Amino acid sequence: MSSPAGLDSADVRIHNLGLLMRRLVDGPSSRSELAAAVGLSRGTVTALVDVLSDAGLVRESSVVASGTGRPRTMLTLAADGFAFAAVQLDADQAIFLAHDLAGEELVRVAEHHGRPMGDPDAVIDVAAHVIGAGLDELDSLCRAPVGLTVVVLAPVGGEPRIVLADTDLGWGQVDVLGMLRAREPRLPADALLSSDEPAALAEAQLLPGERFVLYLKSNSGIGGAYLADGAFIQGAHALAGAVGHLPVDHDGLPCACGQRGCLVNVAGPDVVLAAAGMADVRDRDGLTAALAAFVERVRAGEPTATAAFASASVWIARTIAILRMTLDPSVIVLGGYWADLSQQIAEATTPRLRLGVDGALAPTPPIVAGRLGADAALLGALHQARDAAIADPLRLAAR
Ligand SMILES: [Zn+2]
Repeated sequence: MSSPAGLDSADVRIHNLGLLMRRLVDGPSSRSELAAAVGLSRGTVTALVDVLSDAGLVRESSVVASGTGRPRTMLTLAADGFAFAAVQLDADQAIFLAHDLAGEELVRVAEHHGRPMGDPDAVIDVAAHVIGAGLDELDSLCRAPVGLTVVVLAPVGGEPRIVLADTDLGWGQVDVLGMLRAREPRLPADALLSSDEPAALAEAQLLPGERFVLYLKSNSGIGGAYLADGAFIQGAHALAGAVGHLPVDHDGLPCACGQRGCLVNVAGPDVVLAAAGMADVRDRDGLTAALAAFVERVRAGEPTATAAFASASVWIARTIAILRMTLDPSVIVLGGYWADLSQQIAEATTPRLRLGVDGALAPTPPIVAGRLGADAALLGALHQARDAAIADPLRLAAR
């Protein structure tokens, strides 16, 4: 574990420094506890801690009594000059969130954009303003962002990555990072554009025994990601997981992506709200608030909302059944407002997933509700950035 085969001594040292940082993310620890946790000698850990301490990444926080009577000096993460930042751009608003290395929230800025359909410039203006305000706040805390991830709730692809189509905002292809950089030059050069993978990762981390996690969500549009043995299946053009554009209705209406009858056009949030007679609520209060009200109506058994979701559930069940046989997940996690209606979706879907007589051929994968709510994507993006940074602590310290 501490000396992986095929690595030279410099790589091993970086690997071991990363192990200590990883352990300290979970809370303060003594040198002896670190040595026991990562399987290194006390002397090696002391030398490595000196390196991290000199780099400003670790400091001694307190001295506590131990059972043997010998006091222990506790170590804690320092890195007071850094922050991890992420921005979410959805159908209602842009949100900037920054955490420190230990996962404490430092800055949160949000601004509604009013959903101007087919007008990327107006939406990107708001996102750039939110990023600028967030960076200003980090500046006032004397912290520099370590990278920055922009999460859009739409399929992304290409190199560099762009939004391919966003039905919620009426967009075709949009170079979000390029447009943001033109407005906010402080956008870090290594800024990333992500779709649903961060949320999938964050939810999967709450299911430690599961190796094959299919994440499906609907909030802005419909999306998903498939995590197999710790890696995302992305495909040749990073399109895998763009579930909203699975063309389930062969003779359906043309979609902005170029296909016909995409899932988002037959079971997306706007379709469901219109069928429930709630388009006016969406126009007045925004998509997020309208979906929350819709969930309440379905749970209360209100007939129009219940019928609208039953119609959508036929398409959702068909999609899940197709994906199950394509990907063979061990668990299916629902995010966005689908998390709140996971019981209804499971009831519509599970009977169609049985293989063999009474399901004897393979177990039916459970359909479970995601637990992270509206912040799932932002939290996942921040965890990804932190994990990448602490895997090479000295590069982090050199920034
Ligand atoms: Zn489509």
